[in-house]
Order: sequence, then C-alpha cells, then structure tokens
Amino acid sequence: MKTQKHWKNLVKRLLVVALVLSLAIPLVPETMVVPASAVTQAEINDLKDDAADLRAQQKELQNQLASIKEDKNKALEQKSLLEQQINATQAEIDTIQDQISKYDDLIAQKQDELAEAEEKEKAQYELFCERVRYMEEQGEVSYWSILFSSSDFSDLLDNAMMVDEIMQYDNQVMNDLIAIRQQIAQDKEDLETARQEQQAAKDEQEAAKASLKSQESEVDALISQISSQQAEVEKAEAQMNAAAAAIDQQVAAAEKELAAQISTVVSESGFMWPLPGYNTLSSLFGGRTHPVTGKPNNHTGIDIPAPAGTPIKAAKSGVVTTSTYNSSYGNYVVVSHSDGTSTLYAHMSRRAASKGQTVSQGQVVGYVGTTGSSTGNHLHFEIRVNGSRVDPVNYFLGSMTLYATSGGVKKKIT
Ligand SMILES: [Zn+2]
Repeated sequence: MKTQKHWKNLVKRLLVVALVLSLAIPLVPETMVVPASAVTQAEINDLKDDAADLRAQQKELQNQLASIKEDKNKALEQKSLLEQQINATQAEIDTIQDQISKYDDLIAQKQDELAEAEEKEKAQYELFCERVRYMEEQGEVSYWSILFSSSDFSDLLDNAMMVDEIMQYDNQVMNDLIAIRQQIAQDKEDLETARQEQQAAKDEQEAAKASLKSQESEVDALISQISSQQAEVEKAEAQMNAAAAAIDQQVAAAEKELAAQISTVVSESGFMWPLPGYNTLSSLFGGRTHPVTGKPNNHTGIDIPAPAGTPIKAAKSGVVTTSTYNSSYGNYVVVSHSDGTSTLYAHMSRRAASKGQTVSQGQVVGYVGTTGSSTGNHLHFEIRVNGSRVDPVNYFLGSMTLYATSGGVKKKIT
C-alpha cells in the first residue's frame, strides 16, 4: 500500500530529526562564552560567527518544522478521509440492519402462520380421527357393517361410496392443509435464506469498518508521534533562538565595551592605539629571532596581527613625512608629531595617506597587509622619540590591556 510506505519513510525521517536534535542541543550552552576581561574585535567576530552558526541551525530546524507540519497535515487529511469512509460504511451497515429487522418481522410472522397452520392441521386430523372412531363405534365404517346393514347390493354400493366420499373429502382437506403448511414453511425458509445473505453482507461491512478503524488508530498514533516531534523541534528552535539572541546581546555589550576601550586608548601620553580591537602582539620590541631570516635581530617595533584590510589609525595628529614602499617595511607611512615623536606603520596592504598630508588622531593612514618582509597580515608599529626607536608598549601602560603570544601561548603583558 502506497500510504503505508509513505508512513514508514516519514517515521524514518522523524528518527533522523530526533538524532540531529540530540546532537545539536547540548552544543548550545558551550557557544555562550562570556569574554573574561578586555574585549577584542576578534572575540566579537567569533561571537558573531557563533550567532550566525546558531541562526543557521535555527533555520534548519525551521525547515524541519515546516516539513513536519506538512506531514502532520497529510496525516490529518488521511484521518479525515478514513472517518468519511467509516461513516459511509456505518450508514451501509445501518441500512442492512434495517433490512435484517424487516426480515426478522416477516420470519416471525411466518412462524406464527406456520404454528396456526399446524394447529389447524392438527385440529382437522383430530376431527377426522374422531369421525372415524364415531363411525367405527356406530359400525358405519366397517365393511362388514356396510355389507350387512345394506338392504341390497345397490344400497351397499351407495353406503360404500358414501364412506369413500367422506374419506376422500377428509383426505382432500388434510392434503390442502399440509400443502398450506408446507408453503408457509417454504416461505419461511426463503426469508431465512434472504436474511442470511443480508447478515453476510452486514458482516462484510463490519469487517471493512474494523479495518478502517484499525487504519485510523494507526494514523492517530502517527499524528501523536508527529505532534511530539513537532513539540521537540519547536522547543529546540526556541532554545536556538534564545541562545542566538543571548549571543546578540553579548555582541552588543562587547561592542559597547570595545567602543569604550577604544575611546580610552588615547593614553596619558596622548597616543591612540592604531588598531582598535586588536590588542594581542605577536612580536615585542627588542631582541628576537627574525621571522624571515631566522637570525637574531633587534625588533624595531611591535607586531599587531589583524585581518587584511583592517583600517590603521594615526596614533596622534601630525604630518605625513613618508608614504612609500620598500622591500623590508613594504607599504609604510611615517607621521611626525609636534612633540618631537613620530610613528611608523608598516607592511600595509594599501596606504591611505600621502607625503605632506596633515592627519588628525584616529584618521586612517592605511590598511593591514603583509607586504615587504612579513610572514602574515599584521601592523608593524614603531614610535620614535627624536629619531630613536622606543618600545611602543610603554606608551599604553595602564590605559589598556595588551597580550602577547609566544609559542602559541597568550599572556597578558599590561
Ligand atoms: Zn615588526
């Protein structure tokens, strides 16, 4: 049966949904990681990714829900169809039952008629017997008495014929009564046969109804199964939605916090952090092993990794004294400040300030890249005081939290 196969497939699909749910739900709380201290743009991006993942899972659940609802509607349609069939069958059974009742009435009537006929037959027989007995007692029946009571042969024949006529009449009456009784019995038998046929038809309809009823209870079971699956998926969908909303809230809070952080990044020394939101250094100022040459060298600034294209902001207002490319720094810009300091921004994918241009603090001077002697997207940032390079970190102490990664370990340094 086509529908049977359809239900089987449906049940299979529901089991898959249940499996997916059992795997998906426990993942939700793990994604809700609250950032511990200082917020970075990277952490915000991670949170946004998490939220997007949850929204995608939510969408998937919504699709499943739509499919479940479709299946449920199909099952409900099937149930309604079965109910119509059951009602039609019941109407048929009722009609047949009416017929059977009519036959029962007719059979009962015939039964009464039969009893009456038997009664008449019996009475007639008794009457006949009585008359024969009487005639015997009177000696009227005996052939001898007919013979001897007859005056002559003609009288004898008359007497014998009279007896014979009486006998024949009685026989005729008896035979008629028997024929009537037999006809009634035959009629009754015909009615009973017809009734049996109706009963068989009724039994057939009852069996059909029982089969429909059992199909209906199967469909009912399926509907209740689908409904509980629906409830589960709806619950999971609501959980996903709540989890995504919670992360959205975290993102909003983190963005607010980050904005606050960025505004305080203009330190007491007046320098603004050039890559707001990216506060983990991959290389510190001073002695180190050069990442490209592998030889010991003195690192002239700090390296701040960030995605390619992240805007680099002028740490202080000033005049652009260099905007060029060289094989070591790649695309780089130097800004001279009025207090005798200058800042350098290197390895840019693109420069956004030209030589001689005046820039204000926070103005974009270029974008993060990995040009020149560089192994990955980062900003190489230098501060010079009257031409001497100094450790930029010292200018942000106390005003922001900085981390450094070394051998994959992240460590707080301010
Ligand atoms: Zn560097």
